[in-house]
Amino acid sequence: YELLKHAEATLGSGNLRQAVMLPEGEDLNEWIAVNTVDFFNQINMLYGTITEFCTEASCPVMSAGPRYEYHWADGTNIKKPIKCSAPKYIDYLMTWVQDQLDDETLFPSKIGVPFPKNFMSVAKTILKRLFRVYAHIYHQHFDSVMQLQEEAHLNTSFKHFIFFVQEFNLIDRRELAPLQELIEKLGSKDR
Ligand SMILES: [Zn+2]
Repeated sequence: YELLKHAEATLGSGNLRQAVMLPEGEDLNEWIAVNTVDFFNQINMLYGTITEFCTEASCPVMSAGPRYEYHWADGTNIKKPIKCSAPKYIDYLMTWVQDQLDDETLFPSKIGVPFPKNFMSVAKTILKRLFRVYAHIYHQHFDSVMQLQEEAHLNTSFKHFIFFVQEFNLIDRRELAPLQELIEKLGSKDR
């Protein structure tokens, strides 16, 4: 498992466990909103560095290794899941996330405007879907990431992401299965 060896080599220790905790006096929704936006931007940038390698030909289906395949549905515009290439799926996914982040009723930009009651469930769906982009990059494009010497960057970003979702229990364990081994490795280093 090449990527685990690499993860181990490039992940600094740092105190990420502490960094993801809710700062004193901070509103939980606000904290989750800020971090969700940050992860979206990080993933956008990371995927941006390998888009030329993620094509209709290289990735005709959205997968995370041989055992996991994803079909796109957003629940509103596309209700029946459609099987599509990874670049198309990720385009749908990132556009959908951007739309949620831009929705003032979900992510109010003005201070003092309350978050909606369903905020946490929307945030969970966003993070669950963003995870799939990491999973696709790790499983299908880690060689390109290494060629670009972006692996430390990817690992740090993913570790931060995982520690964050673990801290607040934001993604179901079964959704994390495609990268379970890597996740266990990341966790064990800081405990
Ligand atoms: Zn791909």
